[in-house]
Amino acid sequence: MRTFEIPNGIVIFQSCPGGQFHTLPDSTNPNRIFVRYPSQVRRGFLAPIAHELAHVVQIRRAGSLMALDPVNNHRRIELGADFLAGLAFNISLPQLDGDDFETSLFLVGSYVPQINDHGTPDDRTIAFRMGRFRAPPYSDLPLLESLDYFYDNHLPTIRRQGSTR
Ligand SMILES: [Zn+2]
Repeated sequence: MRTFEIPNGIVIFQSCPGGQFHTLPDSTNPNRIFVRYPSQVRRGFLAPIAHELAHVVQIRRAGSLMALDPVNNHRRIELGADFLAGLAFNISLPQLDGDDFETSLFLVGSYVPQINDHGTPDDRTIAFRMGRFRAPPYSDLPLLESLDYFYDNHLPTIRRQGSTR
């Protein structure tokens, strides 16, 4: 939370039996966002939570879920969240096993439950690793500027690789 500069009281965690990891704004309170997690998950939950908290960062930045995704570009948002999860790992969790973290990242669900376009696993791995290894210029950029740089400079290169398959 500190890494993502999310103020206290914004995110409400909810255990959801049999559910998926899922992030959605509280429709009755614009200052609250729910992050739901499957109650059966006992380990490996940190990476998916980091991914969901990345969606919180994205939603707060855009102002609303609608504003975040005006053109239904789920892939951009999901790969952006994986990138931010990688950055969070680099900044706050370097004592953990990065490969384990990367593996458990793929437990994650979509922030819109009906639509599960998270990008291909290869695309997601590339996005996550850009955050995880935080090479220049990311090492010198604050979080949100890193996300902008990722969208502008690296997401298009992932897209190209994806389209050649
Ligand atoms: Zn997601």
